[in-house]
Amino acid sequence: MSDCIFCMIGDHEIPTKAVYEDEQIICFHDLEPQAPVHVLVIPKKHLASLDEAREEDKELLGHIMVKIHEIAADLGLDNGYRVVINTGEDAFQTVKHLHFHILGKRKLTWPPG
Ligand code: 5GP
Ligand code: ZN
Repeated sequence: MSDCIFCMIGDHEIPTKAVYEDEQIICFHDLEPQAPVHVLVIPKKHLASLDEAREEDKELLGHIMVKIHEIAADLGLDNGYRVVINTGEDAFQTVKHLHFHILGKRKLTWPPG
């Protein structure tokens, strides 16, 4: 999508230092980190939120889950981490392109706010 900031990051229209990248996904540091380690993993395919995930996206979503723990290991999150997918208004999803937050290197309280 031409006006989607995360599509622009995925397409390299906005230069971004990738933590990890392959043909399907890219991982980069969050602009406003909420933990000592806070990165985002996005599919390069535009899905506005998890609500748009379909059967045909199963391989892509599985790929993301496998890569998330590899990325977490590469980032030294050996004492644990949290993966967050904010979806829709009540969850305060602000960017309308599916993204997975990986947060770590501090004690993350529960329940979340
Ligand atoms: P959401 O609230 O939608 O789950 O999270 C969106 C996240 O994207 C926020 O944590 C915000 O800081 C981050 N973000 C928004 N715009 C940009 C950007 O242009 N670059 C980067 N690296 N992060 C962004
Ligand atoms: Zn997009």
